[in-house]
Order: sequence, then C-alpha cells, then structure tokens
Amino acid sequence: MVDSNTHKPHELARRGLLFVLSSPSGAGKSTLSRMLLDADEKIALSVSYTTRPPRPGEIDGVHYHFTDVPTFKQMAADGDFLEWAHVFGNRYGTPKAPVEEKLAAGCDVLFDIDWQGAQQLYQEAGPDVVRVFILPPSIEELERRLHTRAQDSDAVIADRMSRAKSEIGHWDGYDYVLINDDIQACFNKVRQILAAERMKRRRQKGLIGFVRDLAAT
Ligand code: ADP
Ligand code: 5GP
Repeated sequence: MVDSNTHKPHELARRGLLFVLSSPSGAGKSTLSRMLLDADEKIALSVSYTTRPPRPGEIDGVHYHFTDVPTFKQMAADGDFLEWAHVFGNRYGTPKAPVEEKLAAGCDVLFDIDWQGAQQLYQEAGPDVVRVFILPPSIEELERRLHTRAQDSDAVIADRMSRAKSEIGHWDGYDYVLINDDIQACFNKVRQILAAERMKRRRQKGLIGFVRDLAAT
C-alpha cells in the first residue's frame, strides 16, 4: 500500500542544479541574482574568490572573498576551484567545497560568473548546469546602467563597454537568453526557467520508486 505521507510527489528528493547567470557587465545579472536569492530560499549563492579590490559597499565573504594573487594561485594549484578565469585583468574563481556542501544539503546553487566560467562548469557538471545569459536592450542602455551604478571610474566603464561586444558574442554558449528591458519581467522569466528546470524528470531522484508504488497499488 502507498503511504500518502511519505510519497507526496512534491516532496520527492531532487537532484540539485547549478544555475548560472552571465551577462556583459552592467546588463543586470547581480540585480537579478539578488532578487532571486531574496525570493527563493532553495537556492544559495556561490561566493567567488577574486583578486580585484572591493568596490564601495562590498563585503568580504558576502559579495566576494577578496584575496591576493599568490593565495589565488595556490588555491588554483591545490585544485580548490571548480573553475577560474581572468576577467578584466583580475582573477575570479568558484571555490569547490561550498558548492559541493550546498548541493549535498539539497540546495540549488546560483553562479554570477562569466562565459569562461559557464563553459568550465558545464564541462565539470554537464547536465546539472543550467546556463542563462542576460542581454541589455541596447548598447546605449548598457552604458547608461554602468554610469547609473556609479561604482566604476570612467576609464573602467570605457573598458567594460569595449569588452561588452565580445562578451555578447558568447550568447550561444547558453541554454537560455533573456533581454533585460523591464527588470520585473526579466526576473519573472528567470524564475520560470528555474521552476521548469527543477521539474525535469532526470532531476527527480525519487520518481522511479514513486511510480513503481503507484503502479503496484
Ligand atoms: P551586472 O551585475 O550585470 O554588472 P547590475 O545588476 O549591477 O549589472 O546592474 C547595473 C545597473 O543597472 C544597476 O544600477 C542596476 O540597478 C541597473 N539595472 C539593472 N537592470 C535594469 C533594468 N531592467 N532597467 C533599468 N536599470 C537596471
Ligand atoms: P565584477 O568585477 O563586475 O564583480 O565581475 C566581473 C565579471 O567577473 C562578471 O562577468 C562576473 O560574472 C565574473 N565573475 C565573478 N565571479 C566569477 C568566477 O568565480 N568565475 C568566473 N569565471 N567569472 C566570475
């Protein structure tokens, strides 16, 4: 007999997924990440290591683990990163252990990383990775957002803009591509993607047993 308390379909164990949000700098991935983390307690942020200095308001251990080049290089040599890359002249890397802990605890993990990181993560974890690329509605709007954010000097903004087009060129390395025109509309789409990906058959670990019990009833 099926015990309805232990076999509610919505309670079946699920395989955790690695949810990647990438975009050219300024298109809105940090804003979308924050909104997602606030709205959904079943997903946790992977906090990267970086050798770039903190921006005003950034907290060590929350936005990034800020570190120096020798420490970063040692971590890379020790195999402590799931992936790492050079971005804008600095090193950025995803630490392996916290991601594995979160997945083991049944939590999905959110990554705000660039196309190089998305590619490496996909090579490591293939079917468990969901890659979403965020595009700005226009290049002019991208530049306006970088200025509005007011976190970078004009020289840094000019550098980010000059790299934006080559970053945009990596759109085809992603499973989903969204245009972030209206932030709320874009956020709703991000949530729809996550909801649908969570329901994929291969992620529902308890499904075979559940269906077997259903058939045996
Ligand atoms: P990224 O993390 O991709 O570099 P941010 O999330 O920091 O980008 O966004 C850059 C700036 O643009 C921020 O000031 C943010 O508030 C603003 N922004 C993000 N999405 C939108 C949007 N859809 N419309 C207007 N401004 C936006
Ligand atoms: P920022 O300096 O604006 O915080 O980030 C610059 C770029 O580095 C962004 O595109 C961001 O997504 C990317 N990034 C942040 N952390 C990582 C990481 O751990 N690995 C990789 N590959 N890219 C990262």
